[in-house]
Amino acid sequence: MSKRESLNIPEWLKFSGDRQKSPVYFIDIRGKNLNLNNPQVQRELNQKLKDVFKKLNPGNFKGPGVIKVHPGEPKNITYLLPELVQADISFLKEKGINCVIGDTTVIYSGPRGGESNPGGDVSAYTSVIEHNRWSQKHTGVPFVILDRPITSVPGVIEFSEEEVLRNIDSPGYYQNIYIAGAIDKAGVIFNNAHLTLHGLSPLALCVKGLAMGGAGRKGKLQIHANIIVKINSELCKRCGTCAKNCPGQALRYNKEKIPVLIEERCMGCGECLSVCPQKAIEMVRRGPIKWGKGADTFPRRLADFLITLLNGRWEGLVNVGHLYTVTADCDCNNRPQKPIFSDIGIIVSRNPFALDMLATRLFEEQAKKDRANYSLGN
Ligand code: SF4
Ligand code: SF4
Repeated sequence: MSKRESLNIPEWLKFSGDRQKSPVYFIDIRGKNLNLNNPQVQRELNQKLKDVFKKLNPGNFKGPGVIKVHPGEPKNITYLLPELVQADISFLKEKGINCVIGDTTVIYSGPRGGESNPGGDVSAYTSVIEHNRWSQKHTGVPFVILDRPITSVPGVIEFSEEEVLRNIDSPGYYQNIYIAGAIDKAGVIFNNAHLTLHGLSPLALCVKGLAMGGAGRKGKLQIHANIIVKINSELCKRCGTCAKNCPGQALRYNKEKIPVLIEERCMGCGECLSVCPQKAIEMVRRGPIKWGKGADTFPRRLADFLITLLNGRWEGLVNVGHLYTVTADCDCNNRPQKPIFSDIGIIVSRNPFALDMLATRLFEEQAKKDRANYSLGN
């Protein structure tokens, strides 16, 4: 058992009348019709980002640095742009901090899945990293799979465990959480996330990105633990897509060829919900609220998990929200998607909750302006 830590939430993180305690900076590109793949545009945005990082006045950062990203899946075309984390790399280098870029394995099936990347062979994952321009050849710094020690970089970030148990004395929040081995070692985290809608969240940005993406496999299951699948047999067209994509083999067919859930195998990952063409699947609460293990709604569980994951390390956190090529499904869906409205910009804050709240407002405004038929429902 690891040592029990006391919960420490910094004053600047709490919402109060004085929002200036954790301002969110906005690099506004609305209406500019910028080509974000143009190297000159990328250089200008990186310079603006660096100027914002300086304004954050982050104090005494200590290494190693982890630039946390979601690298996308091989068929994605609208994921976070690798060229737009150059500001993070350059800023950290100027502070004398060595860094890596990274993300964890995922619990859904596919080339970044935990099962496709056993401890000693992560070639499936690294092929995605190469394909999506995240390798050292493209970015200048190594990519680390944050829960695979075999990808440690000697002299920069070294870790020996896939996930680390942390015990936090935090009534009302998660108390025992499993975080990725490299996240446990990070002194500074630049938490980059790309804005999309999400089947469970409903918005995927910096809170979800670091809570889910910084958790180890057991941690991810902790976050999903209170969610389970419900299938609407009237809407189901018996296509079999859900069962084919279920990483837990938790769906079998009944006599009428309608999928039936094997409850004890379901990890609540939401993969079946995202692939069902009939919208016949919904995620429902598995049981009563279990305080001390996270609350019963997915967004609340993400927030709770993040508060415990970052306990004692808030001063080394910078969040960067990339609000461009926004899509209706998250970047875990391995297929090309079209943006649902025009690009908004990039927002930066030390406070991931304030950042996500501003993103919600900007999302609603842009959807309305472009007459896109999407809403976050709040
Ligand atoms: S049934 Fe759905 S939510 Fe449950 S493990 Fe399978 S894909 Fe994930
Ligand atoms: S993917 Fe949807 S429509 Fe197809 S079998 Fe599963 S629940 Fe039915």
